[in-house]
Amino acid sequence: MFEQVKLTYDVNGLEPQIDQLTIETHYGKHHATYTKTFNELAEKAGLAGKSAEEILGSLDSVADETLRKGLRNQGGGYYNHNLYFSTLAPATTAAKVPTGKLAEAIDRDLGGLEAAIDALSKAAAGQFGSGWSFLSVDKDGKLYVTASPNQDNPISEGTGRTPILALDVWEHAYYLKYRNLRPDYIKAFWEILDWKVVSDLYDKALG
Ligand code: MN
Repeated sequence: MFEQVKLTYDVNGLEPQIDQLTIETHYGKHHATYTKTFNELAEKAGLAGKSAEEILGSLDSVADETLRKGLRNQGGGYYNHNLYFSTLAPATTAAKVPTGKLAEAIDRDLGGLEAAIDALSKAAAGQFGSGWSFLSVDKDGKLYVTASPNQDNPISEGTGRTPILALDVWEHAYYLKYRNLRPDYIKAFWEILDWKVVSDLYDKALG
């Protein structure tokens, strides 16, 4: 049974960067629906009990095209939003810099934190239509900055990499407050991204 990650902040806890109504709608409606539908489709496909990573990483094994597409979209929506909401924190408590091995990897692979944030922001701003930008890590600990359309991610795209940071640029993530100003939302995102959580995810991904 797939469950939405529990928020570690109040629905108004990310204001002013993300407003209460956006969290209520985004988490309470959009993410809830992805989760509910993913459970239904996983059951239908006989995949209940598998992890989301396993299902998204082996979509080719689902013969029925409609079911495969549904699992990709709804499973991606479930997974991506669990990552997104779990890495946010009020600006007053969010760790502003990565630590440990992730800090070293960002310097080594991406040219430092400022360059990494710039690359992720550009990938997000440049994503035509709905989608995401991701920071992901391969088995050797190397970092990658990419963008994906819809609810795709580095797992469903078959890269074998683990996403550790997900920046949602679907209009539902920002339109109530920022309207057409996606770059302003992206800028605000970095104020409430908790690099401590992302650093822990990097360590976890490496086992
Ligand atoms: Mn979203």
